[in-house]
Amino acid sequence: MTRILIIEDEPRIAAFLEKGLQSNGFVSTLVANGQDGVNMALEGEFDLIILDLGLPGKDGLTVLEEIRGQGMQVPVIILTARDDIRDKVAGFENGADDYVTKPFRFEELLVRIRARLRVNVASVSGKSDLTLCQGEVMLDLRTRKIKVANRPVELSAREFTMAEVFLRHPGQVVSREQLLNSVWGYDYDPGSNIVDVYVGYLRKKLGSQFIETVRGMGYRWRV
Ligand code: CA
Repeated sequence: MTRILIIEDEPRIAAFLEKGLQSNGFVSTLVANGQDGVNMALEGEFDLIILDLGLPGKDGLTVLEEIRGQGMQVPVIILTARDDIRDKVAGFENGADDYVTKPFRFEELLVRIRARLRVNVASVSGKSDLTLCQGEVMLDLRTRKIKVANRPVELSAREFTMAEVFLRHPGQVVSREQLLNSVWGYDYDPGSNIVDVYVGYLRKKLGSQFIETVRGMGYRWRV
């Protein structure tokens, strides 16, 4: 489940965004002013934020600055009517990841959302966490190599990304949809059993003890 926070005060655009996100399998939360946006961003566990710049109370750039000031690394896509280079520069300086100018087609935004989510999963998020460790399993995110009990294991790019998703959520149920979205992107047929096939590959290569099946829900990395 991918959760997206929408910070947008214009009801027509907010409704358009919510409808589009929902029909693409995202879960969205909407707030209509800057202060609520900051509070919600800091409280909620969001995978991405869509942020309007012209907001009542506290404008979008201030919202962004405050969110980043709290150390939040969540990807932020700025949405604005102002097609102004100064806003763009300011937005990126304040830590925006991407930019969409109104008016826009939903598809344009969707492409950027998917790109940001993929980058976020695949990237070395932030500074220090260059390795992910759980028990005997160690992922090196820089070299994209994995070791089990200090023994190197060869994984394909997709297998590695899937292992990374599990190690970022140890002990939590990860749904098939979440894995599909994180590893293959949203263009993949949700009815496919590709996730189960790849979980099978990982079990074979890493050992069957790490990933358990949670019936009707997905999979969980045992801690
Ligand atoms: Ca606005």
